Amino acid sequence: MRTIKYLVVHCTATPVTATIESIQRYWKKVLKWNNPGYHYIIERNGDIVNITDEENIANGVAGNNRHAIHISYIGGIDANGKLLDNRTAQQTEAMYQKLLELAKKYPDAIIRGHRDFSTDTNRNGVIDAFEWIKGCPSFDVTEWLESYQPQQQAA
Ligand SMILES: [Zn+2]
Repeated sequence: MRTIKYLVVHCTATPVTATIESIQRYWKKVLKWNNPGYHYIIERNGDIVNITDEENIANGVAGNNRHAIHISYIGGIDANGKLLDNRTAQQTEAMYQKLLELAKKYPDAIIRGHRDFSTDTNRNGVIDAFEWIKGCPSFDVTEWLESYQPQQQAA
């Protein structure tokens, strides 16, 4: 079994209408990846689609994939390509429940956003906005987890 150190939250950084098929085509044809980018993609209606087994490696964060599970929601940018947390209520709830489930399964794993892996280039001890890899997933994961009120009690 893989050792999982990180549960990483992403956005697909696509229009909200993007399909999983089109995203997978992009990985294969444009990026020439053999592995998918994420283990799970959350659709606008809250459906969670398993893209690859958790034992497989997905290409979510360059240099940090060996010990990571990647979860992404469809969206994350506005019509002009600017970062925007546009998760639907269903996506937000599904993401929360999935992270809860994975955190139980991998109790030593840390939950992070993609952008939290950015390098602290000016070494001021803080990952400043201008240092974010690409701002993915368009929201502060730690802050959200602390403040989110789940619609459903954990089983
Ligand atoms: Zn990402």
